[in-house]
Amino acid sequence: MNLSDFKAQASRLGFSFAGATRAEPSPYLAAYFQWIEAHMHGTMGYLARPDRQLRRRDLNVILPGVRSLLIVGLDYRTLPIDPAILSDPSRGRIASYAWGLDYHDLMIPKLNAIVDSLGVEARVYVDTGAILERSHAMQAGIGFTGKNTMLIHPRRGSYFFLGEILTTLAFDEYDTPHRATQCGTCTRCLTACPTDAFPRPYVLDARRCISYLTIEHKGTIDPMLRPLIGNWVYGCDVCQEVCPWQRFALPSAETGFYPVDLDRVAPRLQDLLVLDEAAFRDRFAGSAITRIGRDRMVRNACIAAGNAGDASLTGQLIALTADPSAIVSEAAAWALQKR
Ligand code: SF4
Repeated sequence: MNLSDFKAQASRLGFSFAGATRAEPSPYLAAYFQWIEAHMHGTMGYLARPDRQLRRRDLNVILPGVRSLLIVGLDYRTLPIDPAILSDPSRGRIASYAWGLDYHDLMIPKLNAIVDSLGVEARVYVDTGAILERSHAMQAGIGFTGKNTMLIHPRRGSYFFLGEILTTLAFDEYDTPHRATQCGTCTRCLTACPTDAFPRPYVLDARRCISYLTIEHKGTIDPMLRPLIGNWVYGCDVCQEVCPWQRFALPSAETGFYPVDLDRVAPRLQDLLVLDEAAFRDRFAGSAITRIGRDRMVRNACIAAGNAGDASLTGQLIALTADPSAIVSEAAAWALQKR
């Protein structure tokens, strides 16, 4: 297989674009370790683990003899949604990447099909590996890193997932790395961030990021940040939404990413506040949302309810102050104090 064979197969499998680069250390390694030393990864301790750091430094630790990184992208932008629904305080809001089916389930089988064609040693990752995937994708010519730290494709914006294959196969030619940035003087994402999570361009302090707080963070959320979270209950799209490069975003050809109904985009808080573990699993079956579990989702819904100040939710919040989950009962008590 060569570079054009790989791209043709990726396209046949439904990926939106593909690129390849030599398996060399990420050009962003030093910046990454500075970020870890500054504790901006918050409670995501796995990012700082010595074995993970070793893998990021040397891809050979993941796959001895690795020669190439084959990278694919899959657009996930789907429907324009009425802004009045998204900002409705009686509804929570879910980041657009999670409106449909779990992208891991859709992408990993396709990546494995490519690996089968390679006939050599390979590892497949969809944001699960200890590699700095966006920077490797930049080296593979896919796009540039924006001031919001997202990888931006100059002809389709940043609403896409990345997947990678590390392989011992070497190609005769590779893609040309993308130049560093095309943000120019724009600072829209930096000023639009509700929690001021960018201490400077190209650096995200995860501890303030709504995606981190609502998805990754397992404990109670800093009370100072809660009012800034608004009605987000799973992730956040703000720093991407405001980016002018999104004018090139294409509707995804992957039907599995389209929401089955509005409740997957902006669920009613009254429905989230009554979820038990079984109802949570049932409601979000097949979605990446299941990974946060019921407690974190209900915690987030309590905070959104507190921010909404909707008196009709008072009874549900009072009941949740006795919830066995400490993060839920504490958030419910906070929400009640807000009204
Ligand atoms: Fe760059 Fe502006 Fe997009 Fe931010 S909003 S990533 S500064 S182009």
